[in-house]
Amino acid sequence: MPMYWAAVVAAGLAGAAPLVAPGVDQDQDPTNFSVDRALAHVDRVAQQPHPIGSAANQDVRGHVAGELRDLGLEPEFQTVAAPDYYRDSGTVAVVNVMARIAGTATTGAVVVVAHFDTVPETPGANDNASGVAVTLEMARNLLAGSPLRNDVILLFTDGEEPAPRYGSTAFVDDHRWFDDARFVVNLEAIGSGGPSMLTETNGPQSWVLDQLVDSAPQPVVFSFLTETTALIGGSNTDFAPFRDAGVPGVEFVYARGSTIYHTGADTPGSVSRRSLHSHGVNTLGLVRHLAAEDLVTTGGDNMVFFTVGRFYVVRYPTSWGIPIVVAAGVLLFAAVRRRHVWPGMARDAVTTLIAALSAAIFSAVLWTPYAGWRDTMGVLESYVALLVLVVLAAAVLVIPFQFGRRVEGGRTLEGVLMVWWSLALFMALAAPGMSYIFALPALVGAGALLLGFDASTRWRSLAPAVLTVGITLVVLVPAVDVFFQFVQPRPGNPDSEILPAVAIPVLLVALGIQLALVFRLRMEDVATDDVSPGEPATTARSRRRSECRTARSL
Ligand SMILES: [Zn+2]
Repeated sequence: MPMYWAAVVAAGLAGAAPLVAPGVDQDQDPTNFSVDRALAHVDRVAQQPHPIGSAANQDVRGHVAGELRDLGLEPEFQTVAAPDYYRDSGTVAVVNVMARIAGTATTGAVVVVAHFDTVPETPGANDNASGVAVTLEMARNLLAGSPLRNDVILLFTDGEEPAPRYGSTAFVDDHRWFDDARFVVNLEAIGSGGPSMLTETNGPQSWVLDQLVDSAPQPVVFSFLTETTALIGGSNTDFAPFRDAGVPGVEFVYARGSTIYHTGADTPGSVSRRSLHSHGVNTLGLVRHLAAEDLVTTGGDNMVFFTVGRFYVVRYPTSWGIPIVVAAGVLLFAAVRRRHVWPGMARDAVTTLIAALSAAIFSAVLWTPYAGWRDTMGVLESYVALLVLVVLAAAVLVIPFQFGRRVEGGRTLEGVLMVWWSLALFMALAAPGMSYIFALPALVGAGALLLGFDASTRWRSLAPAVLTVGITLVVLVPAVDVFFQFVQPRPGNPDSEILPAVAIPVLLVALGIQLALVFRLRMEDVATDDVSPGEPATTARSRRRSECRTARSL
């Protein structure tokens, strides 16, 4: 059994690896992203709250324009009137600052967008001085390198905070540079840590993803996240006007520790060097790559994709979703047929689902008041709370279901896989970018089941369980963490109703625990109950088969 648990831990780590941005070395090369220089911008921009119409806002705008001039660029301003959202009377001037790095033989422009305004309650070091800092440092890196083929537009928007995104909307609607926009990169942060993640894509997804994966050194991309964003109608940020105008592009966000979002705690001291670095190197890599490409969009498939380990990206078209589910179904059917466990399977599937759903509801009931009360909790506290929730829910609602029902022939395993397969089918139809979280475990699990357990060889007793639980953790761990990152309390947004959504990560954990448990139980069964002492495993199998046939004929 230690081998089994070692493999489980290794798979969990491979799944978790992309969720921790790598450490940062000093980098003196001016063409490389320097997190120290970026942090200096954050310190300068996030000295105090700077909402639209304020003197502090004007000061930040002046600083950004000054930095652009220092880089040898000519800042351009675009002014529009917007309602004075924060004082409830009259209008204020919303002023975008922008500059253009001219290409040598341009085929269009890459637009990098970061808003420089804040809500009145926060100095906004993460949201969004981080994006401003990354854009300024990236511009320095680009200008220090060899000349670019395409134009790069640096767009620092004002008035992002009160919807409907006055600054970016004005740029898209009215500014002449918009006509050249062929790709947009929008930078945002709602937390103070974690990796910079791809939250949304626009345009032909396979092409957009190819550009990103080919060029970003630390791509943290999960189609369950972009699919979730799409399901809620897309992110309501500066990305929205570009998306609605049909410009291909991406949005990068880091989100861990989002209890600071729009509060006084969003200070320069809270900014994670690793997060800023991950934001920076990915943006620089992508923009530098696009600035050299023929900016003609090609390809059209929607994709399933996920990062494993230190930034390997697995990807395939969503059109493979249904064939994968069908293949998993055929394998599962064959496995169940061979072991003749029909009668118990449906019942086991239902109890598995009930256990997971009750754990999810139980956790939401506990988490919602707790997180409402501890609404400024730190990252560590939030993960400890999640662990406590999961342990409680598992002890009371999940584990007894599987341990208490170690029934003849170990039917439970087929029942659990049936649940995963059903969810895979549902997702393949309803939200294709999410289907892989269930489809890959169901496919490998059903294949493993068919391959069979055989206690007579060590490999055959371990491999099916290790393969299945391994792939499950690789896809499940990021989903649990990322959904949990987004269900933190956000006292700066008191109207947000996200807390009960903790049910999603706990549901996933509950399903994962049941899968890991039943595979381990099956290994035990094979090692002890199934094989009489001295009886070879192959004989045991044929005995079981004949028992099954007898049972059927009765
Ligand atoms: Zn923002």
